[in-house]
Amino acid sequence: MNPALTALGDQVRGEVLLPGDDGFDARCAGFQTAYRHRPDVLVRAADEADVAAAVACAAGLGMPVAVQATGHGLSVPAAGGLLVRTDALKGVVVDAAARTARVGAGTRFAAVVEAAARYGLAPLNGSAPGVGVVGYVLGGGLGLLAREFGYAADHVRSVRLVTPDGTPVTVTAQSEPDLFWALRGGGGNFGVVTALDIELMPVTRIYGGELAFDLARHPGLLAAYLRWTRDLPEALTSSVSLVDHPDLPVFPAHLRGRFTAQVRIAYTGDSRRGAELVAPLRELGPLLADTVAEMPYTECAEIYRDPPMPHAYQGDNALLRAFGPEQADAVTALAGPGAAVPCVVDVRHLGGQLGRSPKWANAVGHRSAGYLLRVLTPLTGAGREEVAAAQAAVLGVASRERVGRFQNLVYGGYAEGPPAEDFWETADLRRLAKLKATHDPQNLFRFNRNIRPAH
Ligand SMILES: Cc1cc2nc3c(=O)[nH]c(=O)nc-3n(C[C@H](O)[C@H](O)[C@H](O)COP(=O)(O)OP(=O)(O)OC[C@H]3O[C@@H](n4cnc5c(N)ncnc54)[C@H](O)[C@@H]3O)c2cc1C
Repeated sequence: MNPALTALGDQVRGEVLLPGDDGFDARCAGFQTAYRHRPDVLVRAADEADVAAAVACAAGLGMPVAVQATGHGLSVPAAGGLLVRTDALKGVVVDAAARTARVGAGTRFAAVVEAAARYGLAPLNGSAPGVGVVGYVLGGGLGLLAREFGYAADHVRSVRLVTPDGTPVTVTAQSEPDLFWALRGGGGNFGVVTALDIELMPVTRIYGGELAFDLARHPGLLAAYLRWTRDLPEALTSSVSLVDHPDLPVFPAHLRGRFTAQVRIAYTGDSRRGAELVAPLRELGPLLADTVAEMPYTECAEIYRDPPMPHAYQGDNALLRAFGPEQADAVTALAGPGAAVPCVVDVRHLGGQLGRSPKWANAVGHRSAGYLLRVLTPLTGAGREEVAAAQAAVLGVASRERVGRFQNLVYGGYAEGPPAEDFWETADLRRLAKLKATHDPQNLFRFNRNIRPAH
C-alpha cells in the first residue's frame, strides 16, 4: 500500500478501508443501487479532523475526491480516487433565538424536522426525509415550501468547509464572499462541507396532503392542474405526478393497478382559506384519495410518501419558463397509460420567492423558470439507453420553453453528465470556473456536477 495511505490509517479516528476489506462494499453503497462509487480508498470520517486528513492526503497524492452522505444524489461514480463518507458526522443543534440550526454533514432531513419542531420551527426540506441536508442544500434544495421561502440554498448562514488542500475554514458572506456565493448552488465542487448553519422558518403546521385522481377518468388532469396554478398565492407550493401503479401489494389498495395523477400540496395559510384554494381541484370529481388537511409540519413526509428503500432509478428534468395545457396533454399522451417505457412525470410549480435573488446572492440560477418538468424511471425493466430516449422525448415536448436543468433532480450516473451550461447561467458558470481554478485547480472534486477550472 502507498505509505501515505498507511499513514492516513494511523491518523484518522474513523475507518480507512480498501477494496477487499470487510465492510468496504457496504460503505460504498447508498440509496441509488444502479451504480456506486468504486474508490481506491474510502475514509468514513468520525470528525472534521478526519475529513481534513483524508483530503490533505488525497491532495498530496493528486487523487480525486468523491463525497457521499446518503447516496441519494450520486451523479458521477468515482472510479478510483478517495471517497469521503460523511454519514457518521451527524448532529443538529438548534439556536431557537437565531432561528438557525447547525447541521452535521451526515444529517438527514428527518432529524432536522424533528429537532426544529421542538422550537416551533421548520427547515426547508424536500419531499423525502431520508435525503441528506448538505447535498440537497449545495444543489439548491427545492422544498415543500419553496414558493414562499425560495431555495434552501438561499437560507444558509455559514458553511464549515474542508478546502481541496485539506484546510478547515468557516465560510460566510463576510469572511469569504465569493466562495460563500459559489458554495450555495455550486454543488460539491469546492471541498467537503462538514457542517452548515441553516435558517429555520416559523412553521409548525400546514394545510397539506395529496389529492389522487384516476388518470383514466381524468386524462386532462395535468392540463387542469396547470390552469389551477395560475392564480395561487406564494404560500401554496404544489406539484403533480403521473404514476403507473402495478397491481402489487406494495401499493395502497386504492392506487393498485391504476394510472394516477397525484397533486401534492403544502400551504402555510389557514385551513379555511386552504380549502377554498383547493376547491377547484376537488370539484373535478371523483378522487381516489384526499388527504389534504391541517397537519403538523412533523408529518410533512406523508405528502409525497417517497419510497424509503434503496433502489435503482434514472431521472432528468427541464426548468421551463412556461408550461401550457397543450404541452401538458402531449406529455400525458407520451408518458401516460400505454407508454412503452414507464416514466413517472412530476411537474412542480415554481415562481414566488424562487424567482427572486436572495439576501445573499448565490449560484442557484434559472430563476425565471415557472415550472419544473421532471421524469423518473425505476430501472427494473428497460435498459438505460431506452429509458434516456423515452425521458428525452417527454422533456422535448416543452423544449421551446426550456431555460435549463435543476441539478438536484438529475439521476444518471454517467462518467460525463449533462453539460455544466445546463445547470448554471452563463455569467455564473464563468465566475464559478474562475473560483474553481483558485480553490481546486487540479479539479480533485470532480465526481459531481462538475465545474471545470477556468484556464
Ligand atoms: C427520493 C428522493 C427525493 C428527493 N427530493 C428532493 C426534493 O424534494 N428537492 C430537491 O431539491 N432534491 C430532492 N432530491 C435530490 C437530492 O436533494 C439530491 O440527490 C442530493 O444531492 C442528495 O444529497 P445526499 O447527501 O442525500 O446524497 P449523496 O448522494 O450522498 O450526495 C450527493 C452529492 O452531493 C455532494 N455532497 C454531499 N455531501 C457533501 C459534502 N458534505 N460536501 C461536499 N459535497 C457533498 C456530492 O457531490 C455528492 O455526490 C431527492 C432525491 C431522492 C432520491
